[in-house]
Amino acid sequence: MNKPLILVVEDDKPVRNLINTTLKAHEYRYIDAVNGAAAVMEAASHNPDIVLLDLGLPDMDGTEVIKSIRSWSSMPIIVISARSEDTDKIMALDAGADDYLTKPFSVGELLARIRVAQRRISSAQADAGPQSSLFTNGDLTINYAEGCAYLAGEELHLTPIEYKLLGLLAGNVGRVLTHTFITQKIWGSSRESDIASLRVFMATLRKKIESGDDRTPYIQTHIGVGYRMLRIDQQDIPMKNS
Ligand code: CA
Repeated sequence: MNKPLILVVEDDKPVRNLINTTLKAHEYRYIDAVNGAAAVMEAASHNPDIVLLDLGLPDMDGTEVIKSIRSWSSMPIIVISARSEDTDKIMALDAGADDYLTKPFSVGELLARIRVAQRRISSAQADAGPQSSLFTNGDLTINYAEGCAYLAGEELHLTPIEYKLLGLLAGNVGRVLTHTFITQKIWGSSRESDIASLRVFMATLRKKIESGDDRTPYIQTHIGVGYRMLRIDQQDIPMKNS
């Protein structure tokens, strides 16, 4: 199988070179773009498997690139943010990005995020099959047809909101979902009170699904940003600034 093709969008030459060198050393194929207009063009003409996108571009905001790509493709987009503030990451995630890296990042972090994105591609392909009414991740199973979830074969007693929340996270496994995105999907609004409720429901949900013997952490908390369900073989992903 071919190594995925990665589009690297970064105007800062040293950073771009570091990323390209890393990708090359790990036998990824890559193409690069130094501004937003070139990024949109390269994405359309090469249809890469993954996009690594710097948010601070000389000609346009990185979120514009995300919106443009999202109008025709669901390819994983990992944004690279120079600032540690959450607002630009949140805007990028809400525009359709999958994940984010904050500068400066380590090579290990970069590769871990790429692996998560690769897993999302392969699970999306698997889920496209006829048995898509069943979701499994480690000991966790959701039977959408029955409207039930199980942990190691034992039925979980979830409230309707917890079940909805679990389904939303599972349907986007590998992606960081923002508080706004989640509350919009669950309650149709994203007021402060909805975000406060979300924290409460997330805490009770986690208590139920992460109560197995090994206490497998299925859900990652990104403080100030949102939540992500990970495939359980991805638990080693390094976390920083979140
Ligand atoms: Ca930049």
